[in-house]
Formats: sequence, C-alpha cells, structure tokens
Amino acid sequence: MTTTDLDRQPLGPTVPADLSILVEAFARRADVHDRTATFPGQDFDDLFAAGLNAPTVPREHGGLGLGPLHGQTNRLWQMTRQLAAADLSLARCWEGHTNSLVLLDALATEEQKARWFGAVVRRGQRWVAWSGEPKATKPGEQQRFGTTVQRKGNGWVVDGTKVFATSAIGADWAILLVDPAGPGGAREAGKDSRVLMLACELADPSVSVDESWWDPIGMRATASHLVRFDQTYIPDTHRIGEPGDYLKQEWQTVFIPHYAASFLGAADAAYQYALNYVMRQNKGTDPFVQQRIGAMSVAVETGELWLRHVADLWDAGRRREARIAGSRARHLVEHLALDTVDHCVRACGARCLVKPSPIERILRDLSFYVRHDNDDHILATIGRAALGQPYDPSFYKP
Ligand SMILES: Cc1cc2nc3c(=O)[nH]c(=O)nc-3n(C[C@H](O)[C@H](O)[C@H](O)COP(=O)(O)OP(=O)(O)OC[C@H]3O[C@@H](n4cnc5c(N)ncnc54)[C@H](O)[C@@H]3O)c2cc1C
Repeated sequence: MTTTDLDRQPLGPTVPADLSILVEAFARRADVHDRTATFPGQDFDDLFAAGLNAPTVPREHGGLGLGPLHGQTNRLWQMTRQLAAADLSLARCWEGHTNSLVLLDALATEEQKARWFGAVVRRGQRWVAWSGEPKATKPGEQQRFGTTVQRKGNGWVVDGTKVFATSAIGADWAILLVDPAGPGGAREAGKDSRVLMLACELADPSVSVDESWWDPIGMRATASHLVRFDQTYIPDTHRIGEPGDYLKQEWQTVFIPHYAASFLGAADAAYQYALNYVMRQNKGTDPFVQQRIGAMSVAVETGELWLRHVADLWDAGRRREARIAGSRARHLVEHLALDTVDHCVRACGARCLVKPSPIERILRDLSFYVRHDNDDHILATIGRAALGQPYDPSFYKP
C-alpha cells in the first residue's frame, strides 16, 4: 500500500465522508482568502451545514465526539490534516476552534457546556483561544502588547491588547488566557502562576480589532489581528476551570501535536502536487526527480506514523509519554513538511512558485506557521527530558 492509498482511506464511521468533497471547494477558495487576508468564513459555514463543525464536542451534546478526551485522537488529527492540505490558514482557525472546545469539554461546568456547545452545534458559533502577548518588540515597533486583569464585583476586567489573535474577525467567542500577575499571557507566565481562562463574547462593544497590524508573509487568512480590550468585563460565569489550570494541567501539550497534523497536511498537498506535475510532464523517468518523489513519500509516511503513534499514546491514557512524544512529533514533522515542500519545488521548478500556484502559498504559509514555537527550544526540551532534567513541556522555556 502506498502513502497515497493510505491518505485516501476513509477516516472511519465517526467522520462523515463528505469532508473530502468540501475540501476541494476549500482549496479553490484558498488563493482569494490568502490574497485578501480574509477569514475563511464560508468554509466554516460549509462545515456547519455538513454537521462537521463540532468534532470535539461530545456526542451527548450533538458533536462528533472526536479528539483526545474521547479516545479518538487520530480521527480528529486526520480531519485537520485534510483541511490543512486544502488551506493551512483554515486549519489554524479550525485548530483554534476545536482545541477551545476540548478545553470546554474538560473544564467547563455542565451549565456552560449546555449553553456553549448548544450554540456551536445549532448555530455554528466559532471559538478560538488567545494567549499572544509577546513582550519583545520587533525593530521599529513602538507599541507594547499585553493585558491586565483585575477583580471587579463578581467578575474580571480585562484591559489592553493581544496580537496573533487568530480568527479575530471570524470567531464569536475567544478563550482569553490572561495573567492577573501582569501582561504576558500563558507563554510568559511562570508554571505556578494563576493564569485565567475567560470566555469573552467578541460582539461585546468594548472589544475592537485593529486590522492594520497583521500583514505577514503567510497564514494571512487566519486574520490573526491585534485585538484591543477596553475595560472588558467578564463575569465569573464565563470563567473556565480554576485559576492556573491551563498551565498546571499542561493543556498546551494536548494541542502541540495538532500543529504537526497541520504541517503534515501541507506536506500532503505538496507531495500530491509534485506527483501530478511530474506525471503530466512525463518527468518520472528522471533519476533525480525519482529521488525527490521517493524522499517526499517517505517523509509523508513518516509523519503519518508519528502522528498515529502519539494519538495512540493519548488514547491509551499514557499521558506522560504522550506529552513529550507530541513535541517529538511536532519537531520532526516541521522538518519533514519543510523538506517535502522543498523537494516539490526542486522537482517542479520555478513555475510552481508563480501565483496562483498552491505551492507558492504553502511555502509562505508553512515557513511562517512553524514559527509558532521555536524549534531550537523544542529540541532542547526533548534533550532535557532525555537527560532526566526538569523541562517545560508546554512552552519550552529554558
Ligand atoms: C499563524 C500564527 C497564528 C497564531 N495564532 C495564535 C492564537 O490564535 N492564539 C495565541 O495565543 N497565539 C497565537 N500565535 C502566537 C504564538 O503563539 C506566539 O506567541 C508568537 O509566535 C510569538 O511571536 P514571536 O515569535 O514573533 O515573538 P517572541 O515570542 O518574542 O519570540 C521571538 C524569538 O525569541 C525567542 N525567544 C523567546 N524567549 C526566549 C528566551 N528566553 N531566550 C532565547 N530566545 C527566546 C523565540 O523562541 C523566538 O524565536 C500564532 C502565531 C502564528 C505564527
């Protein structure tokens, strides 16, 4: 069985087959979304219409019951992979949405679940989670980003800015990861900090989006804008879990291999493009092209095997191993995917980098998306774990 055969296997009974029809439309729209940096709202609407927009919502709440809380991790990641092959930006928005629903499933009260899951399943509401408060400014940048959060009555007042706020103009709700100790979000906080998860309704008039900040090389359609909170009041009824749960319970480690699923989708798309191109051009007898194709097929299959391995660890409840294995997969698949795109470009030549070629977009998207975490720090963390030293499995801090 070839990797391509593997890719085409049905995902199983819990993933309706019509996703493969939808992704063709998503791939066709990706170019326009990229050029105009537009959130892929129509794609989300189509997923909702097909009953596919609540994969990690439990079945008793009307969802598909996929993901690591339901022993169905790989099925979720295979969905993400298919979406990423169509449009990596869409996959990032989808990850933010489905990951947020995992957090609600694990930590929200029954009343919160009934309300929020109901609106996702019946009205197609979209979620995302925002930490993004990088402290270092880039050259020439005057403004600093960050939020303060203060207790008021039976709730909290959030003030300030976040950046890299994926789906800023497309989501209905955002889980704000905010630190009462000061700006920095979850990434900059200490492990023992009491970072809060506050569900913020984005229609609140105190929340505004500054679309001038987001003009990146790739992942443009994630619409990861600067979001401003002007004394935004969030009642206790919108707090998810207990203060500190996100870091103490290491939730980031559940989502790290999900990035790898997206990277692998990008590799799938590059591999498929190269196969089609080379065969159409009758270049398949060239020994160098053969080597490139061979390397791509091994890379994609390796990524697939690693994802399955990590998913199996989560599904077997082997969480300690799953956490560090997820980072190993995240590290490895980043390189496999970047290599696959490079092999594709070398096999297909310069024309595959002329718009509206999907490879031109994938190259930009992937090179930007893998910066989501610093691979040097990921690898050092894997090394620290192997050496028996203390390590931060969530944000890879030294
Ligand atoms: C497409 C995309 C979508 C995103 N969406 C979201 C989202 O929806 N929600 C969200 O919360 N975040 C999101 N992020 C943001 C992401 O989580 C990071 O916060 C962001 O990438 C940090 O920006 P930076 O790398 O420019 O800055 P920095 O964090 O300042 O890092 C700059 C560089 O310095 C390195 N560095 C940092 N600390 C140290 C240190 N102590 N010693 C040495 N080097 C160090 C970093 O590893 C990095 O290489 C997204 C990022 C991307 C790329």
